Amino acid sequence: MTVDRELVQHIRGLEDEELVEMLTSHVDDYRDEVLAIARSEARSRSLSFEISEPELEPEPEPETVSPSHQWPGDEYQAGGQAVLCSACGHNRFAARAIILSGTELAALVCTKCSHIDLFMQAPARLR
Ligand SMILES: [Zn+2]
Repeated sequence: MTVDRELVQHIRGLEDEELVEMLTSHVDDYRDEVLAIARSEARSRSLSFEISEPELEPEPEPETVSPSHQWPGDEYQAGGQAVLCSACGHNRFAARAIILSGTELAALVCTKCSHIDLFMQAPARLR
């Protein structure tokens, strides 16, 4: 198949931007042989361009393994102070009761890092 001379002339007459656009955002509008001419023309002009891919959805944030993606947790107060996670400083917890050597303890599980703080007396829930 001979390539249309006018087409070659047309492509050579394109502005750099038009040429890049042809090879990227409008790549689906042209036949392969047209694109081949355009590519070699772009190469001879040392144009750099990236072949456009269909827009990809941004990667979703990886799910963190913590209960916080379901429920943020509650804030607690102990000894007149807001309870902060001693590992990460987060202020939201899930309360649990655990038995240790026959004694029931209050456990606050950090909803961010899952660190557990233990209390002999259950901290007051703020909200
Ligand atoms: Zn924490």
